[in-house]
Amino acid sequence: MKIAVVGAGAMGSLFGAMLAEAGNDVWLYDVWPEHVQSINQNGLQIEREGKIRTVKIKATADPEQIGQAELVIIFVKSSRTKSAAETARKIAGSNGSVMTLQNGMGNADAIAEFIEPERILAGTTSHGATMLGPGSIRHAGSGPTTIGAWSQAENGLQRAGQFAEFFSRAGIKTDSVVDVRSVVWNKLLINIGINAITALTNIKNGQILDLEITQELSRAAVEEAITVARGLNIDVHADAVDIVFKVAEATALNRSSMGQDVDNQRQTEISAINGFIVREAQSLGLAAPVNFTLTALIETLQGHYA
Ligand code: NAD
Repeated sequence: MKIAVVGAGAMGSLFGAMLAEAGNDVWLYDVWPEHVQSINQNGLQIEREGKIRTVKIKATADPEQIGQAELVIIFVKSSRTKSAAETARKIAGSNGSVMTLQNGMGNADAIAEFIEPERILAGTTSHGATMLGPGSIRHAGSGPTTIGAWSQAENGLQRAGQFAEFFSRAGIKTDSVVDVRSVVWNKLLINIGINAITALTNIKNGQILDLEITQELSRAAVEEAITVARGLNIDVHADAVDIVFKVAEATALNRSSMGQDVDNQRQTEISAINGFIVREAQSLGLAAPVNFTLTALIETLQGHYA
C-alpha cells in the first residue's frame, strides 16, 4: 500500500517505519528540513531497549513529491492539525483514507473540514516514542492501537476493520471498534487527569498520587470532563478517575508529554485537552472551572517562554 505520514516526528516516524518494514511504499513528510535530510542520507535510526536499528525510508519536505497515497496518517501535534489536513487532502486525492491517532479532541473534526468524514479514521495508540534528534527516535513502549470510522457511514466499520487487519499484519497490533469517539474520549480523560497538572508542577506522572490534594485536583478535572461527555451523550468509563490513577501509577517515572513540551518551551496540546473541555462545557451551559484554570495557567506559561 502507498502510505504517507504527515508530521513525521517521534510517532509519525515510528509508524511510518513499521509500515515500511512490512513492505509498504511509505513516504514521511515533515516541515523540519534537518530531520528529512538526515533520514534520506542515513536512514531513520530507531532505538529500542538500548539497541539501534536503521530503517531505509523516503522522507520529504515537499508534499508534491509524494503524489497520491491510499492512506495518509496525520501525526502532527494538535495545534498543527489544520495545516496538516490541508496537505493530507492533496495527498489523499479523491479516494484515499486519512487517519489520526493524535492525542486530544478536535483533530478528526478539524480534518473533516478538508476531507469527507466517510474517509476519516480516528483512534488511539499505546505505542510511545520520543524524538532524539534529526533522523533519530526512541521507541519507548508498545501497546494496542484502536481505530474506528469517524462518520457513521455504512462502510465505515468495514474500512476500519480492513485497516486494523492491515496494521496488525505489519506488526502494529490494532483493533477496530464501532464507537471510536468514546475510545478517543477515554484517552482524553487520562490526559486531562495527568498532563497539565504534571506540566505546571514539574512532577512525574506517579507523583500525582503522592499528596491527597493533587489527587483531588486530578479527580476534579476528570469529573468535570465526564459531566461534559455525558452532556454530549458520549459513553465514557464510569471509573475514569480510578483509571487515571492506575495509569499514573503504571507510568510513575514518566514525564507527561505536556510536561516535556513545557520543559522544552514548546507549545503544548492544551487547547485540544483541557481547553477542549472548557469550550464544550461553555456550549452546553456547564461550568468547568478546574479545566479553565489549568488551561489558563498553561496558556500563560507557554505565552511567556523566553
Ligand atoms: P513530535 O513533535 O515528535 O512530531 C510532530 C512532527 O510534526 C514534528 O516533526 C514537526 O516538525 C512536524 N510538523 C509540524 N507541523 C507540520 C505540518 N504542518 N506538516 C507536516 N509536519 C509538521 O510529536 P509526537 O510526539 O510524534 O506526537 C504527535 C501526536 O501523537 C500528538 O498528538 C501526540 O499527543 C500523539 N501521541 C504521542 C505519543 C508519544 O509517545 N510521543 C503517543 C501517543 C500519541
